[in-house]
Amino acid sequence: MRAQDYIAIEEQYGAHNYCPLDVVLTRGEGVWVWDVEGKKYLDCLAAYSAVNQGHCHPRLVKVMVEQACRLTLTSRAFRNDQLPLLEKELCELLGYEMMLPMNSGGEAVESAIKAARKWGYTVKGVENDRAEIIVCDGNFHGRTITIITFSSVEQYRSGFGPLMPGFKRIPYGDARALAAAITPNTVAFLVEPVQGEGGVVVPPEGYLRQAREICTAHNVLFIADEIQSGLGRTGKMLACEHEGVRPDVVILGKALSGGMYPVSAVLASREVLDVFKPGDHGSTYGGNPLACAVAREAVRVIVEEQLCERAAQLGDYLMAELRKIKSPHVDHYRGKGLWVGIVLKAEAGGARRFCEALMEKGVLSKETHKTVIRLAPPLVITKDEIDWMLERLRDVLAP
Ligand SMILES: *Cc1c(COP(=O)(O)O)cnc(C)c1O
Repeated sequence: MRAQDYIAIEEQYGAHNYCPLDVVLTRGEGVWVWDVEGKKYLDCLAAYSAVNQGHCHPRLVKVMVEQACRLTLTSRAFRNDQLPLLEKELCELLGYEMMLPMNSGGEAVESAIKAARKWGYTVKGVENDRAEIIVCDGNFHGRTITIITFSSVEQYRSGFGPLMPGFKRIPYGDARALAAAITPNTVAFLVEPVQGEGGVVVPPEGYLRQAREICTAHNVLFIADEIQSGLGRTGKMLACEHEGVRPDVVILGKALSGGMYPVSAVLASREVLDVFKPGDHGSTYGGNPLACAVAREAVRVIVEEQLCERAAQLGDYLMAELRKIKSPHVDHYRGKGLWVGIVLKAEAGGARRFCEALMEKGVLSKETHKTVIRLAPPLVITKDEIDWMLERLRDVLAP
């Protein structure tokens, strides 16, 4: 079958909740992917940073296959021999006391919200059903009803009401707005250290540190959604490390499995995660041995292949080279590590046509919020491959 045939079938039978580029991929290896007609592309999206380790990383494939042949799912009705090791390794790596395993990122965010609310009632002493959680304009934390409740994107909410009470939205990057929004009922501040879906928005220097101090002063949990920013993307294991900030709660997903399988996690202190008693919360697949074996290896690959360091070095190089491109279409470049938003001018006619032109030249990227081209290649990319990408970007962004 040709690409057009697959596209026609998907258009007929699939729900139309995405608007993908019309490239039908069938194979991937490292930073490269191939379509059904054999054309090769450099993947500069890496499945929204889920594939930081590169496509079909041989170590992950090996663990995945071995574990799949041994044991895949026990449910949490029984214990398995992978979950305890993932819990211990992840807690030790990131400096937390406890971990809760989930599957998708959205589920982990939901779990963190549940933990924060129950912590509010049982530890902080907030009156029952009064807990408030503060979030930011431009956030993206997932697609559940609770989470879309506090999205600032009208389309994400519209038609899905009634929505959930208990959330308050403030401007991103404004520590004073956070201080002003806190009430005695505030239990948590949920924030992305860099807003990914928002268009790779890096907050002002010092923002996370100030927010951390404000949360500490008011006994409010600082919850970092590091699902996209974490695990190496920005040049550190957690993006919060750039400001020396230690969140009370960290949410991970995406690259936690290197693209193999949905695996997410919530990490926190005992004081927070111990609010869950048997029966309070759960997931049939959460913490299954296949997920845990893959996640353990995915994290080891990031550490042993020094992907954080690579992201920092190559990210600096990429940004420096991008800024040399004088394009009439580009307003500015922003980002951190191997994570760049090319912000186009209003008159450039939107990012989509640039992504389509890049696709023609063999570079896959995706527009976000209509005017931003997002670049987030797998962190295993080489300097030569970045140069290859830059050559094509120069062509497409040229006058
Ligand atoms: C992708 C993402 C999520 C949601 O993860 P899913 O696995 O798609 O549910 C949540 N938060 C952030 C910051 C994300 O980038």
